[in-house]
Amino acid sequence: MTKKILVVDDSEVLRRITSFNLKKVGYEICEAVDGLDALEKLKEFRADLILLDIMMPRMDGFTFLKTVKSDTNLSDIPVIVLTAKGGENDELEAKRLGALMVLTKPFSPKQLLDIVKQVIG
Ligand SMILES: [Mg+2]
Repeated sequence: MTKKILVVDDSEVLRRITSFNLKKVGYEICEAVDGLDALEKLKEFRADLILLDIMMPRMDGFTFLKTVKSDTNLSDIPVIVLTAKGGENDELEAKRLGALMVLTKPFSPKQLLDIVKQVIG
């Protein structure tokens, strides 16, 4: 069965690049522009994995992560957080809130693919 990934980032360029690279190897992708949009998308799109940006308008990645991890219908979905360089505190906070992994931007498409494969196959 095709694995589904929700890509949550307010940067259109980053969403487009990430989606392109993941679709190319056969994943089904849904995109969300911020945390609120992501929660809305999750009602229809049963994600196997969430790729999550932190700095976003309306609802940031931390608040989204907190919401997902306290929802019994969603808390099982692994979340990989994508943070900006120099965000060591962001990394600790993301892990404290239940992120499985934290990947620091910029990362290569191969780095991302390797990690995604490692998590959902
Ligand atoms: Mg951002």
